[in-house]
This record gives sequence, structure tokens and C-alpha cells, in this order.
Amino acid sequence: MSEKKIIVTGGAGFLGSHLCERLVARGDHVLCVDNLSTGKRSNIAHLLAGRNFELVHHDVSTAFSCDVDEIYNLACPASPAHYQQDPVQTLRTSVFGAMNLLELARRCGAKILLASTSEVYGDPIAHPQSEQYWGNVNPVGLRSCYDEGKRCAETLFSDFRRQYEVVTRIVRIFNVYGPRMRADDGRVVSNFVTQALRGRNITVYGDGTQTRSFCFVDDMIDGLIRAMEAHDSFGGPVNLGTRHEISMLDLAAEVLRQTGSSSRLTYHPLPVDDPKQRQPDLTLANEVLGWLPTTTLAAGLAKTIQYFLSSESSSESYRRSRDWAKA
Ligand code: NAD
Ligand code: UDP
Repeated sequence: MSEKKIIVTGGAGFLGSHLCERLVARGDHVLCVDNLSTGKRSNIAHLLAGRNFELVHHDVSTAFSCDVDEIYNLACPASPAHYQQDPVQTLRTSVFGAMNLLELARRCGAKILLASTSEVYGDPIAHPQSEQYWGNVNPVGLRSCYDEGKRCAETLFSDFRRQYEVVTRIVRIFNVYGPRMRADDGRVVSNFVTQALRGRNITVYGDGTQTRSFCFVDDMIDGLIRAMEAHDSFGGPVNLGTRHEISMLDLAAEVLRQTGSSSRLTYHPLPVDDPKQRQPDLTLANEVLGWLPTTTLAAGLAKTIQYFLSSESSSESYRRSRDWAKA
């Protein structure tokens, strides 16, 4: 098959950089479009040296033009701390970004995939969440810039498919973790792992009984590529994640077990509108994409802990803080 030209927006971020890596490795030409707001050049530095990869420093909320076969639209801050920092910009990114990229797909006849989110289900009443569930989202709360931005993007994808026959995909991603998460992004896996490695208190929000289902990044990238390669008649939405649902208390216990840390748990207020439970129904992903994740939480966490331990900028500070904590 001939080399495809593929845009990955948000390609310098956590998920995007893994996706770019995978696409370049299979021989495609990848254009990473990123404004580097939460992404890092170091995530893609190894790809920049190759001839099949380019970085375009650009904000997707303004229009962009080039010839392309496929577009993966991942641009958007994903951590609550990041997307709430500048909520209007988060909305611009999701809504104007989707509009601009759909227009580009329409002009080029390209396929386009939206990285949507389990947050479209809000604080779900249905459990586990299937694609038929319409969600329980607060439209005026602190999380709504993200939730409603993605919901609006899903609407745009659906209407461009119906009205202009653009070949679209909507995937709803449930919590992902793994190497290249930012140590400072405030998400629970990176927080618990870095806190445990530094011998600092583990910050549990609320009573820790709220649940999430954590999918390892390699599995998620397989799912994204399978979704893009599905039959053109399949637009989704389709859930991607794992069925293994775990409370934050049990997650903390597993992180402490694997790191051998003696950090203590401390309890802090639950953020506003924090969903109480989350688990994807993966029936559709399995039936249509033939996809289910294969990495266990124990194995994925081990790789993630190894990443944080070996990441150059932090290994020395982990060692020092652990020595200090033991003293
Ligand atoms: P991330 O913050 O690491 O990556 C987002 C990337 O988008 C960054 O490189 C950032 O610089 C870039 N970006 C942000 N705004 C932009 C703009 N206006 N123009 C161009 N680039 C912009 O987040 P991630 O965890 O890699 O998430 C990637 C995508 O997957 C996001 O769309 C997110 O909503 C979705 N998602 C992620 C998760 C998860 O658990 N990681 C869960 C559900 C959905
Ligand atoms: N959380 C926590 N301690 C932290 C960070 C997060 O207990 O240091 C909780 C958070 O309140 C939520 C869950 O962990 O209930 C997952 O949070 P994250 O921000 O990773 O993802 P999201 O809430 O977007 O699913």
C-alpha cells in the first residue's frame, strides 16, 4: 500500500505522540499539528529527525490547509487542571478546531477521526456506559468547557457526515495512562505515581470510592488505528477503554505496592461534578473493530512507574526526595 499523508492534531501530547510514532513506524507521512500548549517537543524529538515526520506549530482553532488522506483530531487539553485553566480556549479548540478540520477533510476527501471522551456521559446514571446512553452532563459547570466542547464536536462530526458525506469516526476514549503522561498534569495516575516515588502524601480526592477504568496507552493506540480503518459506513461513536473498573483507593494501594513506597494517603475535597463511576461498555468496539485491550493494570502501571523513574528530568529529584523521605 502506498504511503498515506496523515495529520495528527495534538501529536506532541501524551496520546498523540504515541500515535505519531506508530504511524511513522508503519511508513506513513505524518504531519503533527500542535500549538504545544500541553504537549512537549521532547515527546516527538526522536521523530523529528526522520524524513516522514513534520511538526507544524499551529492552533487548530484557526483554519489550516494542506493535502491529506487522514486526520486524527486529538488536539485538546485532557487533564481537568489543564482544560479548566482557560475554558474559553478549550471550547475554541474543540468546536472551532472540529469545524476547521472537518472543512479540510471535506475539501481533500480525507477520512477524519475525533478523539472524543467518556466525559460526554458526564456523571453517568447508566452503568456501564454504552454508546446509546446520552449522558448526564452539567452544561454550566467547571467541567462543561471540556464535556460540552466534545459533545458539540461530536455533533459537528455527525452533521458533516449526514450533510456533506465526509467519512468520519467518533471514538469515546475512557481514561488512558502510560509513559509520556506529564508528571504535573494533575491526573490521578501521574499524581499517585510521582507522589509515591517522591515519598510524598498520596492525594485522594473525596473518600476515594469513586471509580474509573484505566486503559494502557498502547492498547488505546491500537483502538484508534482500528477505528480509522473500519468500514467507511461506520462513523461511531464507539467506546474505547477497559472494563477493569477500580476505585481510587484500590489504585493508590496498587501504586504503593508496586513502588514499595511508604507514602500515606491524605484526603482532599472532591472536585465539583467529579463523576462517581465510569466503565465503558465495549460490546460495539469488540463487534465492529474486533478490539479489546490486552494490558493488565498491573503490567501497564509497572511500565508507567518505570517511565517516571527513568525520565531524565525527574529521576534525580525522585531519588533525592525518596532519600529525604527515608531520613
Ligand atoms: P494532552 O494534553 O497530552 O495532548 C493534547 C495535545 O493537544 C497537546 O500536545 C496540546 O499541545 C495540543 N493542543 C491543545 N490545544 C490545541 C490547539 N488549540 N491547537 C493545536 N494543538 C492543541 O492530552 P492527551 O491525554 O494526549 O489527550 C489527547 C486527546 O484525547 C484529547 O483530545 C483528549 O480530549 C482525548 N482524550 C484523552 C483521554 C486520556 O485519558 N488521556 C481520555 C479521553 C479523551
Ligand atoms: N483524583 C484523586 N487524586 C488526584 C487526582 C485525581 O483522587 O491526585 C481523582 C479525581 O477526583 C477523579 C479520579 O481521580 O475522581 C480521576 O481523575 P483524573 O483527573 O485522572 O481523570 P477524570 O476525572 O478526568 O476521569
